[in-house]
Amino acid sequence: MSLQEVAQDAVQVNAEVQRVWDACLAAIHNRVTSLSFKTWFQPIVPLKLVHEELTVQVPSQFFYDWVEQHYNSLIRETITSVLGDNARLYYSIAADESPAEFDPLPQSAVVSNQRRDAQSASAPSSFLPRSAFRQTDQLPAQSNLNPRYTFDNFIKGDSNQLARAAALAVANNPGGTSFNPVVVYGGTGLGKTHLMHALGNHAIAMGKTRRVVYVSSEKFTIEFVEAIQADRVNEFSHFYRSVDLLIVDDIQFFSGKEKTQDNFFHTFNTLYQLGKQIVLSSDLPPKELKGLDERLISRFQSGLTADIQPPDLETRIAILRKKSEDNSFELPPDVIDFIAANVTSNIRELEGCLISLIARASLDSRDVNIELAREVLRMIVNDVKSPVNIDQIQRLVCEFYDIPEDLLRAKTRKQEVVSARQIAMYLAKELTNSSLKTIGLHFGGRDHSTVIHACQSIQDRLGNDSSFKQNIEQLRRRIEMSGR
Ligand code: ADP
Ligand code: MG
Repeated sequence: MSLQEVAQDAVQVNAEVQRVWDACLAAIHNRVTSLSFKTWFQPIVPLKLVHEELTVQVPSQFFYDWVEQHYNSLIRETITSVLGDNARLYYSIAADESPAEFDPLPQSAVVSNQRRDAQSASAPSSFLPRSAFRQTDQLPAQSNLNPRYTFDNFIKGDSNQLARAAALAVANNPGGTSFNPVVVYGGTGLGKTHLMHALGNHAIAMGKTRRVVYVSSEKFTIEFVEAIQADRVNEFSHFYRSVDLLIVDDIQFFSGKEKTQDNFFHTFNTLYQLGKQIVLSSDLPPKELKGLDERLISRFQSGLTADIQPPDLETRIAILRKKSEDNSFELPPDVIDFIAANVTSNIRELEGCLISLIARASLDSRDVNIELAREVLRMIVNDVKSPVNIDQIQRLVCEFYDIPEDLLRAKTRKQEVVSARQIAMYLAKELTNSSLKTIGLHFGGRDHSTVIHACQSIQDRLGNDSSFKQNIEQLRRRIEMSGR
């Protein structure tokens, strides 16, 4: 076959896979909402077709998980109807450069994470046992690293700057900096585990270190106990004492486990003396850890300790932007701002919110707007003040002052009604994102200048009258509680 003929064939093959995929899309189009179609099917790229085996590329692991969870049977039926009973579907993930063998996927949901060109995508979804993908020469055996967590997808911010910089320095030169050990501490969902994996993955990618092991303190403890029971403590100790870079996540769980701590103490010392790198994470600064041997704590403090704080607003916005981009999901800027302003505690919750939002929009065929974001927020974020609406505020204000609700919207100029109306307007302005115009409309179609005037006069009264101020504070708390 001449080169030209080969090229010709390749073009035909491409046309064929595109034709097959187009047929699938046409069938799918009729069965899902247009938002779902746009969000979950249009971004899929058909890559190759060999006999009845179709390989498609999805933008990210998250995307794959989602599609697999929600559209598995639809896709399978469609492929079978287009390609026949022997049809098989293979996924390839564009964002990841390495196998996802450590992904917590259920047995049936196997995905092949091939390289971008996906020359050899090989894992039929749901057909092969997961263990078939454990073999890989890309990561040393038992590193336990999750390739999905990288520095590239770790958003930098003031809140994590030092921890990230330390992790990167150590990943570039394990054992070769004065940062040994590195201890990263911070609250839950702030990115410690992400950073630990990113560090290990980067160290391997740099090729400067051979044996990298990531382990959680719980896993370390369980393995140690098993080793004792099986009379294999030497083997256990040898394994952890012969690594070049040891990453132990969540060391607070060593608390109270004296024997494990003792073993870890010796592991630590051996590695340290050999100039090997140790990296630890914890939910508290080492000196505040309870139930840990003083010897260990002083070892932990001998290197660099860096904290991760809750992300500031800019970082939260950047994270939401990046995650929605990575998942080919378009999030209007005002929705991003709204979520970022409300979900302040941690990044896991931010992600949860984004995923729920995508789910709701896609499955209920709704537009992604502030309204929907508000609903989603209320469902998943329990320590955030849920937004309240104007009707609720009116109801509670009238209850508080014991006046009929419709008077707020009527023309009445009786003193106590005017006062309640102004208070409700003021609280609507304070507690909702509604515009002055919208607020006015809720009060019998009053003008926005009336709302401004109301807010102004309430503010004046708050400044002059402390018992009035107490009442308003009490009301505000009631309204906020009612939204939860
Ligand atoms: P922790 O171990 O501190 O409880 P994780 O590392 O598990 O937190 O992070 C929770 C989630 O938030 C993960 O999905 C992680 O990828 C994500 N995440 C945390 N920090 C960042 C960041 N700076 N940029 C991007 N994603 C992040
Ligand atoms: Mg963690």
